[in-house]
Amino acid sequence: MTARRIVVKIGSSSLTRADGLLSIESMARLAAQIGALRHTDGAEVILVSSGAVAAGLGRLHWRPSEVTLREKQSAAAVGQGLLIDAYRDLFAVQDVEVAQVLLVRSDLEERRRYVHVRNTLSTLLRHGVLPIVNENDTVAVDEIRFGDNDTLAGLVALVADANLLLLLTDTDGFYDADPRTESSAQKIPDVWELTDSMAKMAGRAGSRVGTGGMRTKLEAARIAMDAGIDTVVVGSEEPDVLQRVLAGEPLGTTFHARRDPLPRKKLWMVHGSRPAGRLTLDAGAVDAVLERSASLLLPGITGISGAFRSGDVIELATLSGRVIGKGIVNCSSWDLKDWLARRKPGAAARELRVVHHREMSIEREGIRDAGIEA
Ligand code: GLU
Repeated sequence: MTARRIVVKIGSSSLTRADGLLSIESMARLAAQIGALRHTDGAEVILVSSGAVAAGLGRLHWRPSEVTLREKQSAAAVGQGLLIDAYRDLFAVQDVEVAQVLLVRSDLEERRRYVHVRNTLSTLLRHGVLPIVNENDTVAVDEIRFGDNDTLAGLVALVADANLLLLLTDTDGFYDADPRTESSAQKIPDVWELTDSMAKMAGRAGSRVGTGGMRTKLEAARIAMDAGIDTVVVGSEEPDVLQRVLAGEPLGTTFHARRDPLPRKKLWMVHGSRPAGRLTLDAGAVDAVLERSASLLLPGITGISGAFRSGDVIELATLSGRVIGKGIVNCSSWDLKDWLARRKPGAAARELRVVHHREMSIEREGIRDAGIEA
């Protein structure tokens, strides 16, 4: 496996000891492996590290099961400092300078900030600095949260144009059932396409100290696969795991990237952006969008919610509220409501073109991709 730019994500459960404090031994092993990837394999690495909340809780002697959200956010403020201090010392031994990058969801939702994040990450990498990314848990509230570092890592891989995403965790790959509770669970070594049944297999449970679990790893893999980036979910305890995965050893589960990755701007629209509104479509229009990638005509729109302007990202939903895609509108919600209310002759001829639900773009001649210039 040749990878030039690698995003390595490690979860809280792999970084903390049973008493909740940071496991300096585990962090040192990781630092040594990342040091070797950079010096020996010449790879550029971005580390997405959890552990702030867990480390803070451990330091303050607060029990994870008893804390409020505010206390968790306060614990993150304590723990993030501890985490980065520990990394700075451990990476100094590897002769690697580190940088702390804290993000919230809205940093990637707005195209301009997304581009700034990309520029900063690539500048750090160009100067040989290792970015260590985490969610800014102290200020992140629901509306602006990634919620878990797997999704964050998937988006970081996308923003940074990585070639490989490595999700290090406390199980050694993706299983068809929960291996912690079902002895018959089988590991799936290779995944070429994500299916609904896999989402069911992944379940919801995460570890005691992290928030993810397999469900969020699939979400990260989905983002990476769309972007043409392979994802490997593998056990963090495996000796020399990073080097061995790169050497092509069949460890963990590899989620293979699609061969025809979506263009960059569409990737941002599909996975990064937050929709400003929603169009509800009747069955015929849903069909046209999903099955035939055909034009979306005004009469197929049965509902409009949110206030959006031309160039904004919106989502498309069925009558029952299932979201089938996203797109960029070429008119404002006010104009659209006006057209629909008046249903003037000719209104039906106005069209919002939708290109497939996974490449979700609503286009109209001349206004294509408005607002998302890189
Ligand atoms: N950002 C959280 C932390 O650093 C972890 C989120 C997760 O477990 O995915 O503690």
